[in-house]
Amino acid sequence: MTSNLSTVAPTFESLESALKHFFGYDRFRSGQKPIIEAALENRDQLVIMPTGGGKSLCFQLPALLRPGLTVVVSPLIALMQDQVQALHDNGIGATFINSTLSGNQVRQREAGILSGHIKLLYLAPERLLGEGFLPFLDRVHEQTRILSFAIDEAHCVSEWGHDFRPEYRQLRGLRRRYPTVPMMALTATATERVRQDILQQLGLKSPTVHVASFNRPNLFYEIRPKQKQSYVELLKLVKQTPGSGIIYCLSRKKVDEITFRLQQDGIEALPYHAGLADGKRAEHQNRFIRDDVRVMVATIAFGMGINKPDVRFVIHYDLPRNLESYYQESGRAGRDGEAARCTFFFSYGDVKSVDYLIAQKVDPQTGEPLEEEQQIARQQLRQVIDYAEGTDCRRRIQLAYFGERFEGSCGNCDNCLNPKPMQDWTIEAQKFLSCVARCKERFGMKYIVDVLRGSKDKRILQNGHDQLSTYGIGRDRTADEWRLLGRSLLHQGLVDETSDGYSILRLNPLSWDILRKQRSVYVAAPPQSKTTLPEDGGLRADMEALFDRLRSLRKQVADEQSVPPYVVFADSSLRLMAQQQPQNLEEFAQISGVGSYKRDQYGQRFIEAIRQFCEEQGIPLRDLSPIVAAEPAPATPPLLARTHFYTLELHQQNLTPFEIAEKRKLSINTIYDHLELLVQAGQSVQLNQLVDLERQTVIQQAIATVGDASLRVIREHVGESYDYIEIRLVRAQWRSSKN
Ligand code: ADP
Ligand code: ZN
Repeated sequence: MTSNLSTVAPTFESLESALKHFFGYDRFRSGQKPIIEAALENRDQLVIMPTGGGKSLCFQLPALLRPGLTVVVSPLIALMQDQVQALHDNGIGATFINSTLSGNQVRQREAGILSGHIKLLYLAPERLLGEGFLPFLDRVHEQTRILSFAIDEAHCVSEWGHDFRPEYRQLRGLRRRYPTVPMMALTATATERVRQDILQQLGLKSPTVHVASFNRPNLFYEIRPKQKQSYVELLKLVKQTPGSGIIYCLSRKKVDEITFRLQQDGIEALPYHAGLADGKRAEHQNRFIRDDVRVMVATIAFGMGINKPDVRFVIHYDLPRNLESYYQESGRAGRDGEAARCTFFFSYGDVKSVDYLIAQKVDPQTGEPLEEEQQIARQQLRQVIDYAEGTDCRRRIQLAYFGERFEGSCGNCDNCLNPKPMQDWTIEAQKFLSCVARCKERFGMKYIVDVLRGSKDKRILQNGHDQLSTYGIGRDRTADEWRLLGRSLLHQGLVDETSDGYSILRLNPLSWDILRKQRSVYVAAPPQSKTTLPEDGGLRADMEALFDRLRSLRKQVADEQSVPPYVVFADSSLRLMAQQQPQNLEEFAQISGVGSYKRDQYGQRFIEAIRQFCEEQGIPLRDLSPIVAAEPAPATPPLLARTHFYTLELHQQNLTPFEIAEKRKLSINTIYDHLELLVQAGQSVQLNQLVDLERQTVIQQAIATVGDASLRVIREHVGESYDYIEIRLVRAQWRSSKN
């Protein structure tokens, strides 16, 4: 399939060059390109990709390559804002309409859409039903054309999914009203039933279905036994793993407890659970997203509404509900494709508690046990235990759960890196099973182990089991080792356990084979040492220092614009900057993640930081020329989005920057950024209202002398009584007059 790009967007030679221009990436992720090509052919599509696979780009890039509006339906308001912010930060006209906006704001945004500045409109599904909205879309369609619909989180349309939203059913109406506008449905849900439901409910027409692999190769999976001192291990893990992380616990109480202990131990951590007021929860979430706080300790209520791509670790301190939840929750790590760690602390005590809770599931009306539900829950629990105890590649077990085959060993899980040797435990198994037999198959694991270890427990003495020939014959092994054997026997089907809530051990024909010495038993050896992570291509110490410095610069830039740091640059881009140390804009633009807009917006500050670092370290600079674009400034003015025009409108109504910031609930720095861009684009900004005329003259003279490349150099020339904002505004005008 070849794309007919040349006819639609003659400025780009290939989809790759468009990708680099708008998003700064060098290549497509697996699956993205065919989806984009099919979108350019106006086909209906169903896109199934795991979290972090890069779904958004599949509808964003086609939206930018042709005239018209792409309407994106998304259920989560926070995600919507996030994506719109990220698009703005790439200089792309995008906006959202949802219930957080006032009527006035909605009307303004609608005007922006009709003016054609907006390429992507994000919409909450209930909006479609809102009064007068469909007629508005009709107008858009007549005036500027609706290019396509993208239905994000499309599983919400299905009652079989985990997140059914009745409003999603209304989307079918879009299909009827605009039969020729293509529709792309996107989801990370893996089950076949939901997929079928999406196709049907949305009425997709001969759709192309893309199913990406659910393998997340950058995630390292490991299981650690949870013991009494596990908190110490948890703390060590958090200290060892740089970057943001999430710790999941089952109960609010546990969340609060772990948060408290981490805080006491000097870790910046905050809690998140349903017991906190809405405002508090939102605040904690925000602080996590903005990198003000490093660790979120949460119940599973956390994570649905965020897509922070640079989460470096996800720890399950308690049991996940089932394997699919585990996959989704741990999958919140490493969406940016960089290495991340998923650790699951597993204990039998936890299994027992969950098992107990399952046994409590009764019909609230009749008090009868809900047998079917209990059975499903037990089966799911079993799968979690199998995963935790498994000696196979963790990835293989997870993917098999989704019906995907993964061959060989992945090299990025504890079992693949430190395979547990198998040991012959036949004799121990005989002792164990004969003890079960002598206790008349009436007891559970703990009791059997106690008898084997010669415990003086009252019950054992009362039952006279201290008289058995198997009493005390297992003192040579620890209770943990005996339990490991017992569980392994259960797993291998070499002994049975009743599922009546008492978990009594029963012998089966295979058990008798062992007792008759007709069968050997092998058990994976208990872990001796902690798994070590593979080399993650870590940076050298000096690069690490530069990386840290670039991170703080990123944080500063992000705060100035009130956006999350990852919107400015991904970790991977910063790492490349630290490695390659670009010293001019041309080199800077080569970094993956630096598109043309970000090069112009941030290049100077980041290059200055890199140069300064090199100077301090005595690394000779390769390039001492002023930081300016290698090629003449582009003829096109900077891309302006609706948000800039709104600022302009308020400025023209004589509001001061502070008043605009107040009114728009944006930071003052963002407003100055807008004004700078507007000035540079030659829009009619009243510079005299912003900078004293005399001061303008001084700054202009300085620029004429030292050039416009470096703000710092200009400021050194004019003196410290001038601030950067004045200089930026005057410089913008200077640049605009040269265009
Ligand atoms: P999803 O919605 O599938 O979970 P996103 O669309 O949020 O994933 O993308 C996850 C991350 O991957 C984002 O940070 C995005 O910028 C990044 N990304 C997407 N496509 C590419 C690409 N081709 N190259 C590098 N990074 C990409
Ligand atoms: Zn593996």
